[in-house]
Amino acid sequence: MLKKSASLAAWAMMANMPLRLKAEVAIKMLLAGSDEQKRREIMHGVGERRRLTVPRDKIQWHPSIDQKACKRCKICLNFCPKGVYSEESDGSIAVTHPHECVMLCTGCEGRCPEGAISFPDRRDFYKYIYYV
Ligand code: SF4
Ligand code: SF4
Repeated sequence: MLKKSASLAAWAMMANMPLRLKAEVAIKMLLAGSDEQKRREIMHGVGERRRLTVPRDKIQWHPSIDQKACKRCKICLNFCPKGVYSEESDGSIAVTHPHECVMLCTGCEGRCPEGAISFPDRRDFYKYIYYV
């Protein structure tokens, strides 16, 4: 499976953004070049402008783990800044805080070397997000 870069995940998050804001972010990203720290700051700024149409715990956007494919390497656990994953007592990795997952983020998916992480179809979730 191809690994997705952080930039690709960022672009995926921007999918339903108004054109003007998308253009603004695209220019900032271009200026940031390969500076990952700056890119993160830009995406953080985008996150600050996001609003949800219903409470987050009513939206089923979160990763799922194929436990048969998972090799328990903990890459996802160590990567996710939101604490969505936890290690269970038997060593398996579980999605224990699904509603902490950032809406439309798929940053961990491409980092799983086993392709064990999946998300629902993002197009079904655009209706929950708008930008101010
Ligand atoms: S990165 Fe993939 S294989 Fe590794 S613990 Fe997470 S789901 Fe399992
Ligand atoms: S998609 Fe992003 S926020 Fe959600 S679990 Fe993966 S890394 Fe964490």
